[in-house]
Amino acid sequence: MTLDAYRCENGHVTYPGHTRCPDCGEPQTDTVDLSEETGEVVTWTTSTATPPGVREPNHLAIVEFEVSESHSDGSSDSSAGVDGETVRALGQLTTADGVEIGDEVEPVYVEELREPGAGIREPESQEWDGYRFEPV
Ligand SMILES: [Zn+2]
Repeated sequence: MTLDAYRCENGHVTYPGHTRCPDCGEPQTDTVDLSEETGEVVTWTTSTATPPGVREPNHLAIVEFEVSESHSDGSSDSSAGVDGETVRALGQLTTADGVEIGDEVEPVYVEELREPGAGIREPESQEWDGYRFEPV
């Protein structure tokens, strides 16, 4: 599994992806796997009123990743031309203990972000796995 952000030909990166780039309207043609990267906590919060099947309390963070210029195939494309492009992802924290804004976190794979079967949708129609952010 990967934690994919999406990039258009002008180097804008979003997570999650969109049909067209929100910045310039071009199709997003490239993906950037963030699962091996470390990010920085921009802000975080704890939700104590969560939907069915979601852990309570639920710690959520917005994490900012710096996106390198190199493409997933290993080549480097200077035409992308955007230095220091960043992308922000909203996700669950593994723990809120000691977490502060600016801390480094890394994505960790979890099999069940939510409890299967607790929601209103058919469990088989959903994907339950994903990533949480763990303080480094
Ligand atoms: Zn764009």
